[in-house]
Amino acid sequence: MSDELQIGSEQDASPALIDKFGRKVDYIRLSVTDRCDFRCVYCMTEDMTFLPRADVLSLEELYLVGKAFVDLGVNKIRLTGGEPLVRKDVMKLIQELGAMPGLEELLLTTNGAQLDKFAIALREAGVNRINVSIDSLDPDRFLRISRVGKLDRVLSGIDAAIAAGFDRIKLNSVIMRGYNEDEVIDLATYALERDIDIAFIEEMPLGETSNQAREDTTCSNEWVRSVLAEHFDLVDSEAKTAGPSRYSDVKGYRSRIAFISPVTHNFCEDCNRVRVTVEGRLLLCLGNEHSMDLRAILRSEDFSEAKLRDAIVAAMALKPERHYFYEKDRVQPVRLMNMTGG
Ligand code: SAM
Ligand code: SF4
Repeated sequence: MSDELQIGSEQDASPALIDKFGRKVDYIRLSVTDRCDFRCVYCMTEDMTFLPRADVLSLEELYLVGKAFVDLGVNKIRLTGGEPLVRKDVMKLIQELGAMPGLEELLLTTNGAQLDKFAIALREAGVNRINVSIDSLDPDRFLRISRVGKLDRVLSGIDAAIAAGFDRIKLNSVIMRGYNEDEVIDLATYALERDIDIAFIEEMPLGETSNQAREDTTCSNEWVRSVLAEHFDLVDSEAKTAGPSRYSDVKGYRSRIAFISPVTHNFCEDCNRVRVTVEGRLLLCLGNEHSMDLRAILRSEDFSEAKLRDAIVAAMALKPERHYFYEKDRVQPVRLMNMTGG
């Protein structure tokens, strides 16, 4: 029997990736690079050293990883990093993934700095939805947070994404005390007036990235929501989504505000996702180190797609029940977000 036929029959018998807590995994975040043209204070250190090229999965290997998951029932892939658009020839991978049968949604998270160049090509390649990170609308502050980024590049990138006609665009903003906590209303207004969604993300304690203690800067989304509620008429959506986002409709606007609250709320019981780092480490949980080395399988002499799928299925047994952010008696992750695939 050919490998392709075996994939089909295996899929019919066991179409889903299910972990030992009964959660179905149908969404992966695939990191295509750990590199970035920004150095955001919550994500990286200022003098970041990046992985040697040999340690990084090739575009072909990344494709094989994506295909293995789709063969196992995953229908949504988010490309992330680092900054996905700084990876040389990344469009080749995106075009191939965009044409992959069985993949219903191809998503991208980007800092937006190169979107004016890439937006149309991404849309044409089949990227359905795009998330753009933006934490300030003030150029000096934007520079302080990103350490090197230029706000006008990101704003024109967002305009280009709107013009390209993605199914949905969502802005991501991390609100930090002492940096941008007084911009919550302005950021929301900017998004709502353009009919695009905005998600406020709580800063997660993923490694040490600056001299500032995370506890001093982290803002709870309960606080962010209370600030927004003084200005907008928010109606919390009853619709449950897998993962840590909760949405509010805003009276008078078509787009929505999301609250991603991994720190103050634990929605792990609904978790439907895993991550693959650019080193090919299948990471079963953002807040834990449980993982499986897919690169070793991809680079082994007797590699086959079936072996890769078997390893992914076996890894489901390693998925932890939940994260333990800020729980004092637990070891916290030392991995930085760009190494994780945000
Ligand atoms: N470079 C792209 C970008 O910035 O959108 C994609 C990768 S970035 C790691 C993905 C998301 O993770 C961004 O929205 C960023 O704001 C968020 N992020 C990074 N470090 C974080 C942290 N420690 N806590 C919460 N969100 C974080
Ligand atoms: Fe780069 Fe995104 Fe991390 Fe900022 S959040 S440093 S843009 S990877």
